[in-house]
Amino acid sequence: MKKVGVLSLQGDFAAHGAALERAGAEPVFVREREQLSQIDGLIIPGGESTTMLKLLRYENLFDDLAEFGRRKPVFGTCAGAILMAKDVTNPAQESLGLVDIAIERNAYGRQIDSRVVELEPGPDFEKRTAPGKLEAVFIRAPIIRGVQNGVKVLAEYEGDPVLIEQGRYLVSTFHPELTKDLRVHSLFLEKL
Ligand code: GLN
Repeated sequence: MKKVGVLSLQGDFAAHGAALERAGAEPVFVREREQLSQIDGLIIPGGESTTMLKLLRYENLFDDLAEFGRRKPVFGTCAGAILMAKDVTNPAQESLGLVDIAIERNAYGRQIDSRVVELEPGPDFEKRTAPGKLEAVFIRAPIIRGVQNGVKVLAEYEGDPVLIEQGRYLVSTFHPELTKDLRVHSLFLEKL
């Protein structure tokens, strides 16, 4: 069974763990650098990216995580997407800089602007997983403002990319771990 790490310093790591189990993988809740050698890929969950960054520094995990990301598949959702992006604004913030996207934090506005929508995913996503609409939960979500260097857009909402991939990296600005649909997690498991 594939072992997938879920960064578990803060945020909704438990929901990702449950989604991985449902998708047929074994979650490893990563809190220490030693655990990185036991996993085939890593999920960085949603939560609060500034807090997660502080904890990564506090736990001495930042450099190891960046190094892991240069070799292995990584999937970031929401705050995880912010940590993976090369360019972060509103406000500017340090990141692991893994993926060639520019991302704007809290770009839909305040908490009250969080929403659940039904997306029509791109044909490539449906071909590689299964057909059907994608329920997307946005919670104080960022917006991907630019993509570069062969980043592939797999789904959009209101004209902005919300699910993208670049090689072994997968990024969503919404929370697939909060719905029953396992297609996004399955797509990530294909990269392992
Ligand atoms: N607003 C959060 C941030 O900027 C992200 C929210 C989320 O992960 N649901 O880090």
